[in-house]
Amino acid sequence: MTASNGEGGKPVVGFIGTGVMGQSMAGHLIDAGYSLNVYNRTEAKCEPLVRKGAKLKGGPGEVAADSDIVITIVGFPKDVEQVYLDPGGVIDRAKPGSLLIDMTTSSPELAERVYNAARPKGLGACDAPVTGGDRGAREATLSILVGGTVEDFNRALPLFKIMGKNIVHLGPAGFGQRAKLANQIIIAGTMLGMCEGLAYARKSGIDIQKLFDCLANGAAGSWSLTNYTPRILNGDFNPGFFVKHFVKDMRLASQSAKDAGFSLKGLETALEQYIKLENDGYAESGTQALYKLYCEE
Ligand code: NAP
Repeated sequence: MTASNGEGGKPVVGFIGTGVMGQSMAGHLIDAGYSLNVYNRTEAKCEPLVRKGAKLKGGPGEVAADSDIVITIVGFPKDVEQVYLDPGGVIDRAKPGSLLIDMTTSSPELAERVYNAARPKGLGACDAPVTGGDRGAREATLSILVGGTVEDFNRALPLFKIMGKNIVHLGPAGFGQRAKLANQIIIAGTMLGMCEGLAYARKSGIDIQKLFDCLANGAAGSWSLTNYTPRILNGDFNPGFFVKHFVKDMRLASQSAKDAGFSLKGLETALEQYIKLENDGYAESGTQALYKLYCEE
């Protein structure tokens, strides 16, 4: 059941977390004709969306009370927990029949807890983390990895199609997050290999631009190589994807693998290097800043 108080009979969407990713994603929903209620911890980050017609709300509970579908993309699992499970938060104040969609990269166990807290209140809940980076969010080409019931997935699909291209239902609550952690394990190795290869080339006196032009479409080609090498060459270490968030993801993946009874050596090495980078003061930089670690050696 979906209430339809919004423009053209569309459900009213609440959007919480308007940072690097959420800003673009929420903007696409407004462009597609949805009425949006928005909230972000730092209120100023809602301003561009308010200028586009979104209504600013005073907190997660207020967003939930006034919306039919609530989307969140905040930073860390503790933020997800606070937004959904705190007294007066989203689950407390959402209208029965509402659908809750968390697109943060968070813990599979927390996704299950949110789902289990939502169901008895007559609320639907999906975990739907994304991949494709800041560029994917801007260009609405994100891959969206979804856990939850088929019914909730189908209800969310029209919104997912506005924000992304490759949208997959992977299983029950928590499975979107598990799939996203697999994605991060792959990227951990890719980023390490990419930065080591570029640093080796630089130390060998190879022109990195020429190397990039030659390798980008070969066997070493990847999303990371294509999108991050130009930024590295330009000395652009801005996020993109924050180092602090990648460390969070690798810690979640490491714990999840340990819980499943095995240890992932490549992931642990990448995590160690990124923790070193974070301790060197690069937590707020983009993940391509790993290259700096190899230049400093
Ligand atoms: P971000 O720029 O830090 O955005 C997160 C936003 O959520 C911030 O504006 C933050 O507010 C807000 N927030 C945090 N806790 C909140 C709370 N309790 N209530 C209301 N708002 C809250 O990070 P991002 O790059 O968009 O990433 C968001 C999530 O997507 C992360 O889990 C990240 O791992 C994941 N992700 C990112 C990328 C990427 O390339 N950037 C790609 C895929 C997935 P403040 O401004 O006050 O901090």
